[in-house]
Amino acid sequence: KMQGMASGGEEKILVLVRLRPLSEKEIARNEVADWECINDTTILCRNSLLERPGLPTAYAFDRVFRGDCSTKQVYEEATKEIALSVVSGINSSIFAYGQTSSGKTYTMNGITEYTVADIYDCIERHEERTFVLKFSAIEIYNEVVKDLLSTESTQLRLLDDPEKGTIVEKLTEKTLRDRSHLKELLSICEAQRQTVETYLNETSSRSHQILRLTIESSAREFVGKDKLTTLAASVNFVDLAGSERASQALSVGQRLKEGCHINRSLLTLGTVIRKLSNGRQGHVNYRDSKLTRILQPALGGNARTAIICTLSPARSYVEQSRNTLFFASCAK
Ligand code: ADP
Ligand code: MG
Repeated sequence: KMQGMASGGEEKILVLVRLRPLSEKEIARNEVADWECINDTTILCRNSLLERPGLPTAYAFDRVFRGDCSTKQVYEEATKEIALSVVSGINSSIFAYGQTSSGKTYTMNGITEYTVADIYDCIERHEERTFVLKFSAIEIYNEVVKDLLSTESTQLRLLDDPEKGTIVEKLTEKTLRDRSHLKELLSICEAQRQTVETYLNETSSRSHQILRLTIESSAREFVGKDKLTTLAASVNFVDLAGSERASQALSVGQRLKEGCHINRSLLTLGTVIRKLSNGRQGHVNYRDSKLTRILQPALGGNARTAIICTLSPARSYVEQSRNTLFFASCAK
Protein backbone atom coordinates (compact mmCIF):
# COMPACT_ATOMS: atom_id res chain seq x y z
CA LYS A 1 0.00 0.00 0.00
CA MET A 2 1.12 3.49 -0.76
CA GLN A 3 1.55 6.02 1.97
CA GLY A 4 -0.57 9.13 2.00
CA MET A 5 -2.96 8.13 -0.77
CA ALA A 6 -5.90 10.46 -0.96
CA SER A 7 -8.38 7.86 -2.19
CA GLY A 8 -10.63 6.12 0.29
CA GLY A 9 -10.14 2.75 1.87
CA GLU A 10 -6.38 2.84 1.94
CA GLU A 11 -6.16 3.34 5.66
CA LYS A 12 -6.66 0.08 7.47
CA ILE A 13 -8.94 0.03 10.47
CA LEU A 14 -7.01 -0.73 13.64
CA VAL A 15 -8.67 -3.62 15.46
CA LEU A 16 -7.85 -4.19 19.10
CA VAL A 17 -9.16 -6.59 21.69
CA ARG A 18 -9.13 -5.86 25.38
CA LEU A 19 -9.79 -8.69 27.78
CA ARG A 20 -10.77 -7.56 31.26
CA PRO A 21 -10.07 -9.49 34.48
CA LEU A 22 -12.89 -11.50 36.08
CA SER A 23 -14.96 -9.10 38.16
CA GLU A 24 -15.61 -9.62 41.87
CA LYS A 25 -19.17 -10.59 41.04
CA GLU A 26 -17.99 -13.16 38.54
CA ILE A 27 -15.47 -14.56 40.99
CA ALA A 28 -18.17 -14.71 43.67
CA ARG A 29 -20.27 -16.95 41.45
CA ASN A 30 -17.30 -19.22 40.74
CA GLU A 31 -16.82 -18.15 37.15
CA VAL A 32 -13.83 -19.55 35.29
CA ALA A 33 -11.74 -17.45 32.94
CA ASP A 34 -11.73 -19.22 29.59
CA TRP A 35 -9.97 -16.63 27.45
CA GLU A 36 -6.32 -15.83 27.50
CA CYS A 37 -4.02 -13.57 25.50
CA ILE A 38 -1.05 -15.76 24.63
CA ASN A 39 0.99 -12.94 23.07
CA ASP A 40 0.49 -9.36 21.88
CA THR A 41 -1.70 -10.33 18.94
CA THR A 42 -3.46 -13.60 19.77
CA ILE A 43 -6.36 -14.43 22.03
CA LEU A 44 -7.24 -18.03 22.74
CA CYS A 45 -10.16 -19.96 24.19
CA ARG A 46 -8.61 -22.28 26.79
CA ASN A 47 -11.58 -24.55 27.24
CA SER A 48 -11.50 -27.46 24.83
CA LEU A 49 -15.04 -28.41 25.90
CA LEU A 50 -16.20 -25.24 24.24
CA GLU A 51 -14.69 -26.07 20.89
CA ARG A 52 -17.15 -26.14 18.04
CA PRO A 53 -16.55 -27.55 14.59
CA GLY A 54 -15.80 -24.74 12.19
CA LEU A 55 -15.18 -22.16 14.91
CA PRO A 56 -11.65 -21.00 15.65
CA THR A 57 -10.19 -21.35 19.14
CA ALA A 58 -7.54 -18.68 18.56
CA TYR A 59 -8.05 -15.24 17.02
CA ALA A 60 -5.38 -12.81 15.84
CA PHE A 61 -5.69 -9.01 15.76
CA ASP A 62 -3.49 -5.94 15.41
CA ARG A 63 -3.09 -6.00 19.14
CA VAL A 64 -4.70 -7.76 22.10
CA PHE A 65 -4.50 -6.56 25.70
CA ARG A 66 -4.51 -8.88 28.68
CA GLY A 67 -6.61 -8.38 31.78
CA ASP A 68 -3.74 -6.84 33.70
CA CYS A 69 -3.03 -4.14 31.10
CA SER A 70 -4.00 -0.62 32.10
CA THR A 71 -6.09 1.75 29.99
CA LYS A 72 -3.01 3.97 29.82
CA GLN A 73 -1.20 1.12 28.11
CA VAL A 74 -4.05 0.59 25.64
CA TYR A 75 -4.00 4.30 24.88
CA GLU A 76 -0.21 4.65 24.54
CA GLU A 77 0.34 1.52 22.51
CA ALA A 78 -2.69 1.57 20.29
CA THR A 79 -4.94 4.61 19.99
CA LYS A 80 -2.73 7.59 20.82
CA GLU A 81 -1.35 8.15 17.36
CA ILE A 82 -4.80 7.92 15.76
CA ALA A 83 -6.40 10.26 18.27
CA LEU A 84 -3.67 12.88 18.03
CA SER A 85 -3.83 13.02 14.23
CA VAL A 86 -6.72 15.45 14.81
CA VAL A 87 -4.17 18.14 15.69
CA SER A 88 -2.84 17.97 12.13
CA GLY A 89 -6.31 18.14 10.61
CA ILE A 90 -7.19 14.45 10.22
CA ASN A 91 -10.57 13.15 11.40
CA SER A 92 -10.67 10.06 13.55
CA SER A 93 -13.02 7.74 15.42
CA ILE A 94 -12.33 5.41 18.29
CA PHE A 95 -15.01 2.84 19.07
CA ALA A 96 -15.64 0.56 22.01
CA TYR A 97 -17.62 -2.53 21.03
CA GLY A 98 -18.70 -5.37 23.27
CA GLN A 99 -21.42 -6.83 25.43
CA THR A 100 -22.72 -4.96 28.46
CA SER A 101 -20.27 -5.05 31.39
CA SER A 102 -17.31 -6.03 29.21
CA GLY A 103 -15.51 -2.71 29.86
CA LYS A 104 -16.50 -0.33 27.04
CA THR A 105 -17.18 2.70 29.23
CA TYR A 106 -14.22 1.96 31.48
CA THR A 107 -11.96 1.89 28.43
CA MET A 108 -13.42 4.88 26.56
CA ASN A 109 -13.49 7.17 29.59
CA GLY A 110 -9.81 6.61 30.20
CA ILE A 111 -8.88 7.00 26.57
CA THR A 112 -10.86 10.24 26.23
CA GLU A 113 -9.12 11.68 29.26
CA TYR A 114 -5.61 10.73 28.09
CA THR A 115 -6.28 12.03 24.59
CA VAL A 116 -7.48 15.41 25.81
CA ALA A 117 -4.50 15.79 28.13
CA ASP A 118 -2.11 15.02 25.27
CA ILE A 119 -3.95 17.32 22.85
CA TYR A 120 -3.58 20.18 25.33
CA ASP A 121 0.11 19.40 25.83
CA CYS A 122 0.51 19.33 22.09
CA ILE A 123 -1.24 22.61 21.30
CA GLU A 124 0.28 24.51 24.20
CA ARG A 125 3.71 23.70 22.82
CA HIS A 126 2.77 24.65 19.27
CA GLU A 127 4.43 27.87 18.21
CA GLU A 128 3.19 28.33 14.67
CA ARG A 129 -0.53 27.83 15.17
CA THR A 130 -3.36 28.89 17.45
CA PHE A 131 -6.10 26.45 18.38
CA VAL A 132 -9.78 26.48 19.27
CA LEU A 133 -11.29 23.35 20.80
CA LYS A 134 -15.00 22.62 20.67
CA PHE A 135 -16.88 19.85 22.34
CA SER A 136 -20.25 18.24 21.70
CA ALA A 137 -21.91 15.09 22.96
CA ILE A 138 -24.83 13.06 21.72
CA GLU A 139 -26.67 9.94 22.59
CA ILE A 140 -28.47 7.76 20.06
CA TYR A 141 -31.19 5.72 21.63
CA ASN A 142 -33.79 3.95 19.51
CA GLU A 143 -32.54 5.89 16.47
CA VAL A 144 -33.43 9.08 18.36
CA VAL A 145 -30.63 11.60 18.75
CA LYS A 146 -30.31 13.55 22.02
CA ASP A 147 -27.99 16.33 23.10
CA LEU A 148 -26.08 15.28 26.22
CA LEU A 149 -25.13 18.88 26.99
CA SER A 150 -28.71 20.09 27.06
CA THR A 151 -31.30 19.38 29.73
CA GLU A 152 -34.13 19.67 27.22
CA SER A 153 -35.06 16.21 26.13
CA THR A 154 -35.97 17.18 22.59
CA GLN A 155 -35.08 14.98 19.68
CA LEU A 156 -32.45 16.39 17.36
CA ARG A 157 -32.82 16.14 13.60
CA LEU A 158 -30.11 15.29 11.13
CA LEU A 159 -29.70 17.65 8.21
CA ASP A 160 -27.71 17.38 5.03
CA ASP A 161 -25.43 20.34 4.61
CA PRO A 162 -23.94 20.73 1.12
CA GLU A 163 -20.53 21.62 2.57
CA LYS A 164 -20.32 19.83 5.89
CA GLY A 165 -22.29 16.69 5.07
CA THR A 166 -24.64 15.39 7.77
CA ILE A 167 -25.03 17.78 10.66
CA VAL A 168 -27.01 17.48 13.87
CA GLU A 169 -29.44 20.39 14.02
CA LYS A 170 -29.34 22.62 17.14
CA LEU A 171 -26.62 20.55 18.77
CA THR A 172 -24.87 22.34 21.63
CA GLU A 173 -21.22 22.97 20.85
CA LYS A 174 -19.12 24.35 23.67
CA THR A 175 -15.87 26.15 23.09
CA LEU A 176 -13.44 24.90 25.71
CA ARG A 177 -11.80 27.43 28.00
CA ASP A 178 -9.14 25.03 29.24
CA ARG A 179 -8.66 21.38 30.14
CA SER A 180 -10.67 21.57 33.33
CA HIS A 181 -13.65 22.83 31.33
CA LEU A 182 -13.76 19.55 29.46
CA LYS A 183 -13.86 17.61 32.73
CA GLU A 184 -16.89 19.66 33.75
CA LEU A 185 -18.61 18.90 30.46
CA LEU A 186 -17.82 15.20 30.68
CA SER A 187 -19.46 14.99 34.08
CA ILE A 188 -22.56 16.74 32.71
CA CYS A 189 -22.75 14.11 29.95
CA GLU A 190 -22.26 11.31 32.43
CA ALA A 191 -25.07 12.68 34.62
CA GLN A 192 -27.39 13.06 31.62
CA ARG A 193 -26.70 9.51 30.54
CA GLN A 194 -27.27 8.20 34.07
CA THR A 195 -30.62 9.99 34.21
CA VAL A 196 -31.78 8.22 31.08
CA GLU A 197 -30.65 4.87 32.40
CA THR A 198 -32.36 5.36 35.75
CA TYR A 199 -35.54 6.47 34.05
CA LEU A 200 -35.49 3.32 31.98
CA ASN A 201 -34.64 1.28 35.06
CA GLU A 202 -31.56 -0.03 33.37
CA THR A 203 -28.11 -0.47 34.72
CA SER A 204 -26.74 -1.54 31.39
CA SER A 205 -26.43 0.83 28.52
CA ARG A 206 -28.76 0.55 25.57
CA SER A 207 -27.66 3.67 23.82
CA HIS A 208 -24.71 4.76 21.73
CA GLN A 209 -22.73 7.75 22.96
CA ILE A 210 -20.58 9.93 20.75
CA LEU A 211 -18.29 12.50 22.32
CA ARG A 212 -16.80 14.77 19.69
CA LEU A 213 -13.84 17.06 20.07
CA THR A 214 -13.33 19.45 17.18
CA ILE A 215 -10.05 21.27 16.77
CA GLU A 216 -9.72 24.33 14.59
CA SER A 217 -6.33 25.83 14.11
CA SER A 218 -4.88 28.70 12.19
CA ALA A 219 -1.37 29.83 11.46
CA ARG A 220 -0.15 32.66 13.65
CA GLU A 221 1.43 34.21 10.62
CA PHE A 222 0.36 34.09 7.05
CA VAL A 223 2.47 31.35 5.49
CA GLY A 224 1.78 32.03 1.86
CA LYS A 225 -0.51 29.14 1.05
CA ASP A 226 -4.12 29.90 1.89
CA LYS A 227 -5.05 26.31 2.51
CA LEU A 228 -2.47 25.85 5.20
CA THR A 229 -3.70 28.75 7.24
CA THR A 230 -6.75 27.00 8.69
CA LEU A 231 -7.40 23.39 9.59
CA ALA A 232 -10.38 21.72 11.25
CA ALA A 233 -10.86 18.12 12.28
CA SER A 234 -12.73 16.05 14.84
CA VAL A 235 -11.94 13.08 16.97
CA ASN A 236 -14.96 10.97 17.97
CA PHE A 237 -15.07 8.78 21.05
CA VAL A 238 -17.84 6.26 20.52
CA ASP A 239 -19.13 4.15 23.38
CA LEU A 240 -21.48 1.73 21.64
CA ALA A 241 -24.56 0.11 23.11
CA GLY A 242 -24.16 -3.42 24.43
CA SER A 243 -23.75 -5.87 21.58
CA GLU A 244 -25.84 -8.65 23.15
CA ARG A 245 -28.63 -9.94 20.99
CA ALA A 246 -32.13 -8.56 21.26
CA SER A 247 -33.52 -12.06 21.70
CA GLN A 248 -31.41 -12.73 24.75
CA ALA A 249 -31.65 -9.46 26.59
CA LEU A 250 -35.13 -8.34 25.69
CA SER A 251 -38.66 -9.57 25.78
CA VAL A 252 -41.55 -7.72 24.15
CA GLY A 253 -42.84 -4.29 23.21
CA GLN A 254 -40.68 -1.25 23.82
CA ARG A 255 -37.70 -3.30 24.83
CA LEU A 256 -37.80 -5.44 21.76
CA LYS A 257 -38.03 -2.32 19.62
CA GLU A 258 -34.96 -0.95 21.39
CA GLY A 259 -33.14 -4.15 20.71
CA CYS A 260 -33.94 -4.05 17.02
CA HIS A 261 -32.73 -0.48 16.73
CA ILE A 262 -29.54 -1.25 18.61
CA ASN A 263 -28.95 -4.17 16.35
CA ARG A 264 -29.74 -2.17 13.27
CA SER A 265 -27.20 0.50 14.22
CA LEU A 266 -24.58 -2.03 15.18
CA LEU A 267 -25.32 -4.11 12.13
CA THR A 268 -25.00 -1.11 9.83
CA LEU A 269 -21.79 -0.12 11.56
CA GLY A 270 -20.52 -3.66 11.06
CA THR A 271 -21.39 -3.59 7.37
CA VAL A 272 -19.82 -0.17 6.85
CA ILE A 273 -16.65 -1.18 8.66
CA ARG A 274 -16.41 -4.45 6.77
CA LYS A 275 -16.67 -2.63 3.46
CA LEU A 276 -14.08 -0.09 4.50
CA SER A 277 -11.68 -2.79 5.62
CA ASN A 278 -12.12 -4.58 2.29
CA GLY A 279 -10.91 -1.51 0.47
CA ARG A 280 -14.37 -0.05 0.07
CA GLN A 281 -15.78 -2.21 -2.65
CA GLY A 282 -19.27 -1.25 -3.67
CA HIS A 283 -21.58 1.25 -2.09
CA VAL A 284 -20.98 2.07 1.56
CA ASN A 285 -24.38 2.40 3.20
CA TYR A 286 -23.73 5.14 5.75
CA ARG A 287 -27.31 6.35 5.47
CA ASP A 288 -28.83 3.18 6.90
CA SER A 289 -28.44 4.28 10.51
CA LYS A 290 -28.11 7.51 12.49
CA LEU A 291 -24.84 6.36 13.99
CA THR A 292 -23.09 5.84 10.66
CA ARG A 293 -24.64 8.96 9.14
CA ILE A 294 -23.32 11.14 11.93
CA LEU A 295 -19.91 9.48 11.86
CA GLN A 296 -19.52 9.38 8.09
CA PRO A 297 -16.92 12.19 7.87
CA ALA A 298 -14.83 10.36 10.46
CA LEU A 299 -15.12 6.90 8.90
CA GLY A 300 -13.33 5.95 5.71
CA GLY A 301 -11.64 8.30 3.29
CA ASN A 302 -8.65 9.87 4.97
CA ALA A 303 -10.10 9.37 8.44
CA ARG A 304 -8.37 7.13 10.96
CA THR A 305 -10.37 4.48 12.81
CA ALA A 306 -9.70 2.22 15.77
CA ILE A 307 -12.09 -0.32 17.26
CA ILE A 308 -11.50 -1.65 20.72
CA CYS A 309 -13.47 -4.84 21.29
CA THR A 310 -13.94 -5.51 24.98
CA LEU A 311 -14.37 -8.97 26.43
CA SER A 312 -15.16 -10.62 29.73
CA PRO A 313 -13.17 -13.85 30.18
CA ALA A 314 -16.05 -15.54 32.03
CA ARG A 315 -17.29 -18.90 30.81
CA SER A 316 -20.97 -17.94 30.90
CA TYR A 317 -20.32 -15.29 28.28
CA VAL A 318 -18.55 -17.52 25.82
CA GLU A 319 -21.17 -17.07 23.10
CA GLN A 320 -21.13 -13.29 23.53
CA SER A 321 -17.35 -13.29 23.48
CA ARG A 322 -17.32 -15.31 20.28
CA ASN A 323 -19.77 -12.85 18.70
CA THR A 324 -17.53 -9.97 19.69
CA LEU A 325 -14.45 -11.67 18.25
CA PHE A 326 -16.38 -12.47 15.10
CA PHE A 327 -17.31 -8.79 14.72
CA ALA A 328 -13.68 -7.89 15.35
CA SER A 329 -12.47 -10.40 12.74
CA CYS A 330 -14.79 -8.87 10.14
CA ALA A 331 -13.34 -5.43 10.80
CA LYS A 332 -9.75 -6.53 10.20
P1 ADP B 1 -19.70 -1.62 29.73
O1 ADP B 1 -19.59 -0.16 29.52
O2 ADP B 1 -19.16 -2.43 28.60
O3 ADP B 1 -21.09 -2.05 30.08
P2 ADP B 1 -18.11 -1.08 32.06
O4 ADP B 1 -17.04 -0.26 31.44
O5 ADP B 1 -19.16 -0.33 32.81
O6 ADP B 1 -18.80 -2.02 30.99
O7 ADP B 1 -17.40 -2.16 32.98
C1 ADP B 1 -18.11 -3.02 33.84
C2 ADP B 1 -17.36 -3.12 35.18
O8 ADP B 1 -16.10 -3.73 35.00
C3 ADP B 1 -17.09 -1.77 35.80
O9 ADP B 1 -17.25 -1.89 37.20
C4 ADP B 1 -15.65 -1.50 35.44
O10 ADP B 1 -15.02 -0.68 36.39
C5 ADP B 1 -15.05 -2.89 35.43
N1 ADP B 1 -13.96 -3.00 34.40
C6 ADP B 1 -14.14 -2.96 33.07
N2 ADP B 1 -12.98 -3.16 32.41
C7 ADP B 1 -12.03 -3.33 33.36
C8 ADP B 1 -10.60 -3.57 33.31
N3 ADP B 1 -9.94 -3.68 32.15
N4 ADP B 1 -9.96 -3.69 34.48
C9 ADP B 1 -10.63 -3.60 35.67
N5 ADP B 1 -11.96 -3.37 35.77
C10 ADP B 1 -12.66 -3.24 34.64
MG1 MG C 1 -21.07 1.32 29.48
